[in-house]
Formats: sequence, C-alpha cells, structure tokens
Amino acid sequence: MDPFSHYIVAYAAGRKANVSLNKMRALTLAAVIPDIDGFSIFMGIQAFHDIHGGPVHSFLIGIVLALVITLGIYIYSKENVALCAFSGVFLHFALDVPNTLGYTRATDGLFYFWPFSDFAIDLQNHVPDAAIWHIVVISTIFILCMVFFLLLVRKGEYAWRIWLDERRFLKKKAQNK
Ligand SMILES: [Zn+2]
Repeated sequence: MDPFSHYIVAYAAGRKANVSLNKMRALTLAAVIPDIDGFSIFMGIQAFHDIHGGPVHSFLIGIVLALVITLGIYIYSKENVALCAFSGVFLHFALDVPNTLGYTRATDGLFYFWPFSDFAIDLQNHVPDAAIWHIVVISTIFILCMVFFLLLVRKGEYAWRIWLDERRFLKKKAQNK
C-alpha cells in the first residue's frame, strides 16, 4: 500500500476515535513507519525488492517501532500513546495484506512472523488473476482515501497539519517581506 493511503486510513480512524493530538501523531506515524524499508530503493531495484516488505514488516520489528514511537512521544509530551502507536503499526500490516498480490516472485509474501517462522502471507498464490486484483484493490483504497482527504479539505481540515501547519510558515514569510 502507498504511504498516503496508510496515513489517511489511520487519520480517519483517529478522527473517528476522537483521539488527542499526540495520539493522532502516534497513530499516523506508526501507520507509515514500516515503509521506511522502501528507502532501500536508493540502493537499487534489487535491494528494494529484497528489503521492502521484509523484516521491517514483521510483528517483532513492528512492536519495536511502536515502542520507540511511544517512548519518543512520552518523553516529549508525558502522554501515554502506546495504544495508538501499536494500533498504527498493526493497521499498516493489515492494509499491506492485499499488497502481496503485486509481488512478482511466486514465493514472495509478507513474513509477519520473521524470524520465528517462515509462514508468509502470499495472496498471489491463492487468488486467480492476482495482478488484476492487485490493481483493483489498491486503486479502490487509494481513491477512497483521496476522496476522504478532499472532503476534509473542503471542510477546511488538512490532514497534514497535525505535523506541520504551513500557515505559520507562510505568515513568517509574509512578515519578512
Ligand atoms: Zn508496508
């Protein structure tokens, strides 16, 4: 799944649960963080293929990432955001399940139980016309996220502002002129 969809699904969940700002930050950050292994693209397409969706997408590393986010936000704000951090990471893993349809090598999949078990979620080995389903499912989720995002924008709510309020930056720029 693309990081935008991961972020927006988590943002929608956080909104629905009416969480605080720090919890929303924990939830959205945790929901995109497993895809840091996507930066392996800078080491070449083969590295990307080998690393993306690998150990960083395992429950073990996911738990570590959620703990780091929880601790980081706790030090910064003294607020316990553990539930949101863990929910975010597991939401990411759940959303990535249809992603395995796009893997080109038949043996590939998501090894959520790494390094304890070789069990892989590999829908492409069970679903006929996996490549087509991949496009259908991924595009549907992406379009729904885009529509939700734009509906919020129409209401004057900008999903990125929990991290960065560009108005402050723009105001500063205008004052400097
Ligand atoms: Zn992922």
